[in-house]
Amino acid sequence: MSTIARTTSTDERTGVVERHGSVLLHDSQRYVREAAAMLEIDSSLFNLIDQPEREVTVTLPVELDDGRVEAFTAYRVQHSRVLGPGKGGMRFHPDSDLDEVRGLAALMTWKCALLGLPYGGAKGGVVCDPSVLSTGELARITRAYANALAPFIGAHVDVPAPDVNTDERIMAWFLDEYERRVGRHEPSVVTGKPLTLGGIPGRGESTGRGVAQITMAMLEKQYIAHKSATVVIQGFGKVGSEAARRLHELGVKVVAVADVSAALYNENGLDIPRILQSVQCQPPRLLREYGGEDAQMLPPEAVLTLDCDVLIPAALEGQITASNADDIRARIIVEGANGPTTADAEEILNRRGVEIAPDILANAGGVVVSYFEWLQGLQGNRWDLATVRKMLDQELRNAFDAVLRETERRKISMRQAAYLIAVERVAGAVSLRWSQR
Ligand code: GLU
Repeated sequence: MSTIARTTSTDERTGVVERHGSVLLHDSQRYVREAAAMLEIDSSLFNLIDQPEREVTVTLPVELDDGRVEAFTAYRVQHSRVLGPGKGGMRFHPDSDLDEVRGLAALMTWKCALLGLPYGGAKGGVVCDPSVLSTGELARITRAYANALAPFIGAHVDVPAPDVNTDERIMAWFLDEYERRVGRHEPSVVTGKPLTLGGIPGRGESTGRGVAQITMAMLEKQYIAHKSATVVIQGFGKVGSEAARRLHELGVKVVAVADVSAALYNENGLDIPRILQSVQCQPPRLLREYGGEDAQMLPPEAVLTLDCDVLIPAALEGQITASNADDIRARIIVEGANGPTTADAEEILNRRGVEIAPDILANAGGVVVSYFEWLQGLQGNRWDLATVRKMLDQELRNAFDAVLRETERRKISMRQAAYLIAVERVAGAVSLRWSQR
């Protein structure tokens, strides 16, 4: 549960404090607007794909261990269900708000469409701080959330999954509560479940594995030999730590990693297996506890502006903004998190020739393997790890190649190309559905 905690930033010119959730929402709408203009989509069709289909806000009364009952606010936004059931994670975070969940739900629509998955996009958020909750409190919040959402979700309606601060234990409580309520087995109502409850091998590693694969593909695209490449990773949770592990395994030098507590740096490459072991063995699971003398300890924020070939922001949204974009020294950014780069920052980075592999491509490995898990549950069969990895690698390769082709054909950025492909698919489906109603 080690994430980067900053969720607001101050505009240096105006002094206005902006919440990253609303920046994320406006930025994703801006990318969709640009894609719609390129595709000459008219305004009525644009409104149909831009606005969320359904938004649910609930209050969860939950008893704390000291006997008090606290009201937790929670959301689920279904942005689109045009291509299939809503799909997307649920995060537990004290700064989660409706705009953030709206923006993240929209990102899921474009991510699933880009990957050609039979899903729409959705996202959930519970406003709580898991670091101060006991296991029992966390379970009661999760069960209350499952109960409140039960009328709005289902294997063919909307399928939640893990996201920031949620894991397979939480998905197990969520599934159990949902199935008790509906009175039947329905394993495909959620993905990211433990193996024994119908989970799939490789789901835990999938987002980080995909980020590593896209990093390798970006290095190849930029003609950088991976053995001499240097990578910096911000965020050492599920995504960042797995990307670090995989890149190290592939022979890439990971020179810095950071979480909320500290950054570890070694210009010759960190001993990633040793750091992973240290983090797994110590209960707070924070990098500042690392005792190895082979790494220099820096403040977490220092990591973004280190000299490197690839920067992987794998924490929260809104980390690379107009205020620090000029200081970024990486040549490539691979977005492990959702929305880590603001659109204003992207303009600056584009001008400076920094290549960005956008979130809806770079971190899509998780939802691709969620799709395999969903299929497994619907078919009642079992997939093995080798098959999951092979199919994941293939799906990501296809999406990467499609984005690259569009980038070259239209002379646009990778993000614009990714949105173009996704928006064209969703808009095509909307016009077919809405004709002659
Ligand atoms: N939370 C992940 C994401 O943002 C996975 C979503 C899913 O598997 O449904 O892509």
